[in-house]
Amino acid sequence: MEHALILGAGFGGLELATRLSESLSDEVQVTLIDQNDSFIFGFSKLGILFGHQTREQVRCPYRDISKPGVEFRQERVTSIDPQTRHVVTDAGTYEPDILVVALGADYDPAATPGFVEDGYEYYSVAAAERLRDVLPSFSGGNVLIAILGIPFKCPPAPYEGALLLHDYLVDRGVRGATRIDVISPMDSPVPVSRETSEAIVRALGERDIGYTPGRRVSGLDPAAHLARLKTGDLPYDLFIGIPVHRAPAVVEASGLTIGGNDGWVAVDPRNLATRFPNVYALGDCADAPVPRAGVFAETAARAVADDIAAKIHGSGPIYPYDGKGSCYIEFGGGFVGKVDADPAPALVRRLKARRGPAVNIFSRTCHGRAACPR
Ligand SMILES: Cc1cc2nc3c(=O)[nH]c(=O)nc-3n(C[C@H](O)[C@H](O)[C@H](O)COP(=O)(O)OP(=O)(O)OC[C@H]3O[C@@H](n4cnc5c(N)ncnc54)[C@H](O)[C@@H]3O)c2cc1C
Repeated sequence: MEHALILGAGFGGLELATRLSESLSDEVQVTLIDQNDSFIFGFSKLGILFGHQTREQVRCPYRDISKPGVEFRQERVTSIDPQTRHVVTDAGTYEPDILVVALGADYDPAATPGFVEDGYEYYSVAAAERLRDVLPSFSGGNVLIAILGIPFKCPPAPYEGALLLHDYLVDRGVRGATRIDVISPMDSPVPVSRETSEAIVRALGERDIGYTPGRRVSGLDPAAHLARLKTGDLPYDLFIGIPVHRAPAVVEASGLTIGGNDGWVAVDPRNLATRFPNVYALGDCADAPVPRAGVFAETAARAVADDIAAKIHGSGPIYPYDGKGSCYIEFGGGFVGKVDADPAPALVRRLKARRGPAVNIFSRTCHGRAACPR
């Protein structure tokens, strides 16, 4: 029996544990570790932000995991030695035969001067709750939504935030008194799909939301409420930033990021293997040529499961990871878009959903169903 240790029970870790349980439970015993007691879908943060759901309603508790050959442990990883596969947590040590690092991405709000003091965000549950609590007292003015670094999770999420904020302010009767602008350092919203990008830009235009691509906010002046850009300062009344992302500190300290671009874990894009024997990295922490999104963490997990199975069965190299995946975009107004992202030109289908946020959020859970332990 081989022992596989999966660090991180997010999209990637949960999918991998599920796959290994379904296909190799007689040959691989899985220990799945996460510091939290429950999984929360990334898009649920939008539900929390606009008051449609509470933290309690969006939790998928890990105690509900019941998969043959998989044991979940709530522990915090404090050190990883990829050379020896020696892992230390706040509750013990491990030396597995196979080590998979799926610890996601952390945020570094302090990397943007002034942002901690005067900015809001919705990329963590606590931050979404904080912004949710100030929105009801917003009575108009300039809202800047700015992407502060690349890469970041879920390329459509800043635009979803803008489109849903538009709806929220319309409902409250203060949209007419508000200017909303989205500022991005990228040249288009979703570079892997021209059609999706065009649909998003069109949707922003239809709602009179400004869009400035190719520009980065480098910092805020909290006293003057000004956002600093190379092209000049922009005034704001409410600044919402997508924080700079980075690999978790424990991953950086492990040496796994050496050789990866911009501080992410270097992997073989065909099977997500690192340069260390029997050590893989997948999902947001990996320097794979796919966007940071749950759907890609899931498909990467499937490639890793196939690679592990091929090694155990001696069946040779797997079909290379193709990086394909589908995800959903909130367009507001009861519309949800489906994006099939592919290295080849992608397809965008605009699906009409029934009105109401619950319907949208329900339909968006489809792509993540395998990851939810319930
Ligand atoms: C607002 C928003 C909307 C989004 N919408 C979508 C969407 O619609 N579709 C989509 O596909 N993606 C979406 N995403 C992106 C998606 O949530 C992430 O890309 C995805 O979660 C990445 O999966 P992962 O397994 O790599 O990491 P994660 O899911 O982040 O999992 C990493 C896990 O590691 C754990 N961990 C970290 N450090 C430690 C440690 N030291 N010890 C123990 N455990 C640790 C964390 O607790 C976490 O559970 C969205 C993200 C946001 C913020």
